[in-house]
Amino acid sequence: MKLLEDKILNDGKIGEGDVLKVDSFLNHRMDVAFLSKLGEEFYRLYKDCNVNKILTIEASGIGIACLTAQFFNVPMVFAKKTKTVNIFSDVYTSKVESFTHKKTYDIIVSKEFLLPGDRVLIIDDFLAQGSALNGLISLVNDAGAELVGCGIVIEKAFQPGGDLIRGRGIRVESLARIESMSCANGIKFCD
Ligand code: 5GP
Repeated sequence: MKLLEDKILNDGKIGEGDVLKVDSFLNHRMDVAFLSKLGEEFYRLYKDCNVNKILTIEASGIGIACLTAQFFNVPMVFAKKTKTVNIFSDVYTSKVESFTHKKTYDIIVSKEFLLPGDRVLIIDDFLAQGSALNGLISLVNDAGAELVGCGIVIEKAFQPGGDLIRGRGIRVESLARIESMSCANGIKFCD
C-alpha cells in the first residue's frame, strides 16, 4: 500500500536489532485518520469472507484492530498477556515469544469471547518471527473457530514469520512488506 510505504519512509526510524520504530503514527502516538484507512484496506481484502470477529494481541495490535473492526461492524477481542495463567480456568492459552522484549508470555482469551463457528480475522501491527501470529492462531484452533486469515500492517519479509505461516496454507495479507532495512541503505519494500 503506497500510502503506508510513504509514511514508513517519512516517519519510520530504524532501531537496534532489526526493529523498526513507527511510534509517531502506529505504536505510541496514533494517527487515527491514517490508521482508519489501513482498516478500510483490510476490509476491502477480507470483506467477502464473512468475518464475525477480529482477534489481536495487546497492546500494540489493539488500535489497528479496533479501527478494522469498525469497517466489518463486528467485535474485536484482544488476547491478554499474563504471568499467572494457572489462576484462569475458562480461557484458551498459548505462548508468545516477544521479538521486541525478548521475553516469553502466556496469552489468554476467555472461552466466552472466542466460540466454535466464529470466523476470525487476526490483525496485528508487525510480523517478524511469527510468534505472535502463531500464538493467536493456536487460540483460534483451540476454540474450534475458523481462521479466515491474517492482516498485518508491516511485515518484515526478511524475517521468517510470513513464509512460515503462509507455508501452513494460511492467508496473510500485509499492507507493507519490507525486503531489507539498514541505517546505511534505508528501507526497501518488496515488489
Ligand atoms: P513476531 O511475533 O512476529 O516475531 O513479532 C510480532 C510482534 O512483535 C508484533 O506484535 C509487534 O508488536 C512486535 N514487533 C516485531 N517486530 C517489530 C518491529 O520492528 N517494530 C515494532 N515496533 N514492533 C515489532
